[in-house]
Amino acid sequence: MPVFMIDVLPADAPPTDLDATVRRVDDGVATLDVRDLGPSRGDGIFETIGVIGGHPQALDAHLARLANSAALLDLPVPHEAQWRRAIGRAAASLPADRQGGLKVVLTRGLEGPGAPTGWIVATPADGDFPERETGIRVVTLDRGYASDVAVRAPWLLPGAKTLSYAVNMAALREARRRGADDVIFLTSDGFVMEAPTSTVILRFGDRIVTPRTDIGILPGTSQLSVFAFAAARGLHTVEAKIPVARLAEADAAWLVSSVRLAAPITHLNAAAMGVDVELTRAMNDALLARQA
Ligand code: PLP
Repeated sequence: MPVFMIDVLPADAPPTDLDATVRRVDDGVATLDVRDLGPSRGDGIFETIGVIGGHPQALDAHLARLANSAALLDLPVPHEAQWRRAIGRAAASLPADRQGGLKVVLTRGLEGPGAPTGWIVATPADGDFPERETGIRVVTLDRGYASDVAVRAPWLLPGAKTLSYAVNMAALREARRRGADDVIFLTSDGFVMEAPTSTVILRFGDRIVTPRTDIGILPGTSQLSVFAFAAARGLHTVEAKIPVARLAEADAAWLVSSVRLAAPITHLNAAAMGVDVELTRAMNDALLARQA
């Protein structure tokens, strides 16, 4: 797994040799100070970017979300050209004949100096994602926040992709204990949110619906691509506040994310759901065919 360490530049740095600010680190060579506030407090942000044929997917949307997360955490504005260059190098390090992913991380750095730390880990996929065809079983779990959390308690950082994913991972373990593969989080006042690492998309007839992000969820880059694909097919795309009761009424449902892409939901809380095989295939074909 190639690792790239980044000498993080301020957004307004004068022109410089950007390649010289990105170092590929050999296996077994130390990369990180254990006092870094990223690993020790989860105080940082990240993006997971899919790579196909050596090309990072939906890069503009990922960089926009990284910048938004940085702003929400009062981290320095990322130097866009530097991160583009680093991401391009990391993507090109993966085998061109396999899919893969990049974990792109920016932390608050060491306590004291205030200099952020940045790195990218490039990982080739170890399989061909059979769940894009076979689907996933999903359970609903309470996330514990009401749908107005972003207004009432913005310091909880809804909408920021922070490194603090222990809760998300615990929810996935709870799903496995319940015999499922994944989770749909619900607000405490009963609205559909997102999954621990993906966005929820539903089909009702010719309407493709996803939860509104202002209830305190991440804007999904894959969801954006799916909406562009759906609109091009003449489907209506809608962002809405979705009461939990609507989930079971959907004609089809998916969890979508950057590396797994679109996984159709076959069961919701153990009850079978409709699967739209043709639309799922077309959706994944469109996601795989993206050029950027
Ligand atoms: N929601 C959460 C909480 C996530 O962690 C992710 C993926 O990282 C997503 C949604 C889906 O985002 P994307 O489509 O950009 O991978």
